[in-house]
Formats: sequence, structure tokens, C-alpha cells
Amino acid sequence: QDASLREDVKARLRDVPDFPKPGILFKDVTPVLADPHLFRRVVDAMAAPFQGQRIHRVVGVEARGFLLGAPIAMALHAGFVPARKPGKLPWRTRTERYALEYGEDGLQIHEDAMGPEDRVLIVDDLLATGGTAQAASRLVTQLGAQVVGFSFLISLDFLPGRQRLGADKVCALLSY
Ligand code: AMP
Repeated sequence: QDASLREDVKARLRDVPDFPKPGILFKDVTPVLADPHLFRRVVDAMAAPFQGQRIHRVVGVEARGFLLGAPIAMALHAGFVPARKPGKLPWRTRTERYALEYGEDGLQIHEDAMGPEDRVLIVDDLLATGGTAQAASRLVTQLGAQVVGFSFLISLDFLPGRQRLGADKVCALLSY
């Protein structure tokens, strides 16, 4: 079942060379999201390892983490919390800076979005160096909540992301 899902996702993912910079092979997930049946199967599969783990909040990382994180939160009966680029959230925030595969950036979270009692899942479309997800994890820790795990559609396992986050906490539907 998972093997056939992986084949279907692979068939729909679009590899875009040299986007957004020369040398980057961009994995475009939009054709997966546009397929109604495949989108649902992907959301269910990304949520499945965390069913029954008492997840209270799903943190989705801007921007593609929102698209997967919000339906995964609903599948887990959890709340959804956006981690956004600096300057986008209207209320009081915490900030973490991080290095990206292509550049440098920061992430912010609303400081009242979770607390010490909360068990949290972090979601994004793709794990590369792990810098982005690690920044999201530090935001959760700043608010005193617990990072239970990470769920990605794709993990680039020739990069150190999985080890950086702790291999036992990382789930990915596809690995390259
Ligand atoms: P990193 O912080 O290096 O793990 O990079 C992960 C973040 O950058 C995620 O939000 C991804 O959506 C994005 N990203 C990095 N590399 C790629 C890639 N090759 N294709 C698509 N998105 C990428």
C-alpha cells in the first residue's frame, strides 16, 4: 500500500532544475496537491505514524508546510500553528534564524500558540539540510512545548537533515 503510494507520488512530483538558483533541483509538489485522491492519500500517510501519539499541535513551515500541515492537523485532531517568515505574524512572536540550502532566513511563531503541556508535530514538504525544521523545533522548545516528531513528504538523505533532527523522530514518505 505504501509502496504503491510512493510510486504514485514519484510519478507526479516534478523535478525543476536550477530553481530558484543554478544547481538546485527543485522538487515541485504542486502536481501532488492538485490530484484530489493522491492529496488525501499523502495526508493520511504523513499523519499515520503519529496517530495515537497524542499530538496537540501541528506546526507547518511557510509556505508548503502550511498546505500539508493543516490537513495533517485535522487528521490528527490537533490544532494547526504556522511558523512564518519574519514580519508576517501580527501578534507577539519568538524568532529563530537559520541557514537554508539556498540562502539564509528566519522563522517566527506566535508566543501564545502552545505551551509546556503540548506535544507537537512539525510538518514540511521536504527535508534538505534540516536547518529550517531545526529552527521550527527550536521555536517549539522556546515555548516550552515538546517536539514529538517531524513528518516530511520528501527527505534528501544525501544531506545531513535526518541526522541533525534525530533519525528516530523523522518520518518521510519518499527518500532520495
Ligand atoms: P533545509 O532547511 O535545507 O532542510 O531546506 C528545507 C526547506 O527548503 C523546505 O521548506 C523546503 O521546502 C525547501 N527546499 C530545500 N531544498 C529544496 C528542493 N530541492 N526542492 C524543493 N524545496 C526545497
